Amino acid sequence: MIQPTQIDLIVKNARELLTLSSSFKDESGLGIIQNGAVAVKKGRIFWVGKTEEISGKFPLSRDGREMDATGKVAMPGLIDAHTHLIFAGSRENEFEQRIQGLSYQEIAGRGGGILSTVEATRHSSFDELLSLAKRRLDRMLVKGVTTVEAKSGYGLSLQDEIKILRVMKALQESHPIDLVPTFLGAHTVPKEFRGDRARYMDLLTEEMIPKVAQERLAEFCDVFCEEKAFTLEESKKILETGKRYGLKPKIHADQLSSGGGAELAAEVLAYSADHLEYASPEGIRKMAEKGVTAVLLPGASFFLSTKRYPLAREMIERGVAVSLATDLNPGSSMTESLPMMMTMGCTMYKLLPKEVIQATTIHGARSMGREKEIGSLEVGKQADLLVLDIPNYRYLPYHFGVDHVEYVLKKGKIVYQRPT
Ligand SMILES: [Zn+2]
Repeated sequence: MIQPTQIDLIVKNARELLTLSSSFKDESGLGIIQNGAVAVKKGRIFWVGKTEEISGKFPLSRDGREMDATGKVAMPGLIDAHTHLIFAGSRENEFEQRIQGLSYQEIAGRGGGILSTVEATRHSSFDELLSLAKRRLDRMLVKGVTTVEAKSGYGLSLQDEIKILRVMKALQESHPIDLVPTFLGAHTVPKEFRGDRARYMDLLTEEMIPKVAQERLAEFCDVFCEEKAFTLEESKKILETGKRYGLKPKIHADQLSSGGGAELAAEVLAYSADHLEYASPEGIRKMAEKGVTAVLLPGASFFLSTKRYPLAREMIERGVAVSLATDLNPGSSMTESLPMMMTMGCTMYKLLPKEVIQATTIHGARSMGREKEIGSLEVGKQADLLVLDIPNYRYLPYHFGVDHVEYVLKKGKIVYQRPT
């Protein structure tokens, strides 16, 4: 006799199950199943549907568990698609100076800015960086984040960039959150190369990228393409070199000025172009044409009190997949809260609640080429999901600054449960 399939976990009775799958069409575009249920086997989604269809269908395995989500929302784990996770030190003094009206240049002149974080990070050991980053990931997990893209870029020497990337590897092996590592040696030109940037370009393209690729320490290569950081030509060279070594391109583009970064993202077939406050309509059109995801970072606009916002609505209307991320970093966005970014996406960028949910799930996955693996609740995908103590999906960005997450499941296992 054929034994019925045994299931490891069932989540049932969810008032709204947000599948983010096109197989469940509804007007929200979130693929909502009312009174929904999910069955998980061996860390993967085995079945998705209505609770009444599941009853008696799948017997639980010996250690199997059933979770009741009556009156609640269940959805895929959140994906933070842009963070500078690994750094030492903090810059609350600059925060205060900015409030008092000091400019970035004046702050840098007083020894602040990105180079102060580089200094602190270089002077920190592997273990110190590991412990700092682990606490940041723990804070993210409580917010419902199950996958995080993390950039290096506060080492800016071969040895320190490698140290940072090895910290990520250790976290990947020890923390429930999945990390997607990105090499950002082209974050800024370090102090010791300021008189000879060509030599830093050589170090990046001839030593750092080959070494990072050889040790398989990163999946992506990113560059800060901006007048004050790396020019269009330099950015192109760095990303093309990365590609030759198997590192997929990403780009910090058009944050402070319209420099053709969005166009370059399309030209090099970047997985994502990030920031985009000054992206040109032509750049947006090209991104749509080449399928480049836009990763928008409202935390940086909010924290720096900048008035210029990216053309988020136009991006969506043109068919660009729009993602939202924290940009977690000590200078311009000191936060681990992706749900806060969802609220800011609504109030500042005029995205709708359904759009900020897409932005932090399936579009986040797309920005790192993982859309077949995570970002929606579909059969065969990794069982990363949340149970939220909210009555409907619109409530999530609406009631801001508090934690709604009751359970976080990673690969079918409970990795966070809200204390009762
Ligand atoms: Zn960034």
